[in-house]
Amino acid sequence: MSVSLDRRIAESGTRFRIFPQPRFLQKADGSGPLFPEPEQVVIALEPSAIQPGPADDRMFVVDAVGKLPYNRLFRPPYRGEFRPPVQPGPEGHFDHLDPTSREFSAATMYATVRRVLDIWQDYFGRTIQWHFFTSFARMELIPLIEWNNAQSGYGFLEFGYGRSPNGTIDHTRPYCENFDVLAHELGHSIIFAEVGVPTAPNDEGIDYGGMHESAGDLVAIVASLHFHSVVDHLLATTKGNLLTINGLDRVGELSDSRQIRIAFNALRMSDVGDEPHDRSLPLTGAIFDTMVEVFQADLVAKKLISEDLRIRSTNLPGTASDLDQIQADFTAAYTGNEEAFKESLLMARDYLGRLLALTYSKISPDFLTYHGILRAVLEADRELTDGENATIIRDCFAWREIAPVPTSLLLRQHTLADCGLAGAEPLGSDTGNGHAGYRIPSPRPDGVTLYAGR
Ligand SMILES: [Zn+2]
Repeated sequence: MSVSLDRRIAESGTRFRIFPQPRFLQKADGSGPLFPEPEQVVIALEPSAIQPGPADDRMFVVDAVGKLPYNRLFRPPYRGEFRPPVQPGPEGHFDHLDPTSREFSAATMYATVRRVLDIWQDYFGRTIQWHFFTSFARMELIPLIEWNNAQSGYGFLEFGYGRSPNGTIDHTRPYCENFDVLAHELGHSIIFAEVGVPTAPNDEGIDYGGMHESAGDLVAIVASLHFHSVVDHLLATTKGNLLTINGLDRVGELSDSRQIRIAFNALRMSDVGDEPHDRSLPLTGAIFDTMVEVFQADLVAKKLISEDLRIRSTNLPGTASDLDQIQADFTAAYTGNEEAFKESLLMARDYLGRLLALTYSKISPDFLTYHGILRAVLEADRELTDGENATIIRDCFAWREIAPVPTSLLLRQHTLADCGLAGAEPLGSDTGNGHAGYRIPSPRPDGVTLYAGR
């Protein structure tokens, strides 16, 4: 899907430049930033649809002066003083801005939020309406306030700076330039808009909370796999050996990225408690693993790796020498086929985007469980591929110990006695229709109504 989005907007869209990962991420040898240059991105709007700010019909940047963070009483719209809006270049694009300027930071915030929204609207196949649309038409984006924190709220995203070790503001780490953080926050907005919130007062929403954090991370992970520099780096470092269990050591310098650490986590449900960020990890892992397995299955289908290598790389844990052999085999397979591997990974990325958009469209926020999410993921796969990836999905979720809760009625066994059929006697093989049959038992004398699979 979004490979085709990018093809469609390449000529008609508006150009910006953004850093795919924070500039403070360093190369392992200490020779400088891992992503020293911003990458060009194209927004799915013509230059004429973007006003100075930048601003459009869904969002606008206000570079507020002397603003305090919003709180329960102080809410949008911002009515105070602000710096002049950022102007486009002569042809209406914003890729001319100096990466060391304040204007660049403001334009980055707009371009990141807009790009992530473009990508996910494409996967959903429709406009994602803001969850605050009853109050505001557009999202207010405030890029650089004097605050060692950042927040998203009803109608706004408001970003300050990272914190230095002694707790003061670290002006070298503006949050508005952190693609991961912005995309994660927009992920929460997408869930509020598309899934909604629990309504029952006795619903503790434990898995709902985990799902929300997981969605923030998955929205960010899928979006960052739209940077060519990130995909190229990931593949060049791993040679396509992306199996996630114990996989973090293979992603090299990228493992310093929060997003990558989360994608490659190896936690199961028995490792985590109820805290939403912890609880999100096995779910995010199960879903990211699904993408990796779909990627590998495509490599097998295109004869880029053998079925034997796919199976060996999935059946973990193995011995250290197994892992070395697996890596050597991936390196041999990848070398000379770099473009084909990338094509397969982008296919798997877009499958995952579509799968998640359908899943989020199906689940109800009320009494949500991870098992309910698994059911929705399998249903979504049936719609997308006719269930081609059902085994992969089942295996990935099972490894993470995502299953019906032990008290689920789905797990209840029904003996013939439970069903009131224990007294049924075979009628013999000839019942007139060629099948063996059972006599319908007489009603239970105690009048008990048996559970009937509600
Ligand atoms: Zn979050």
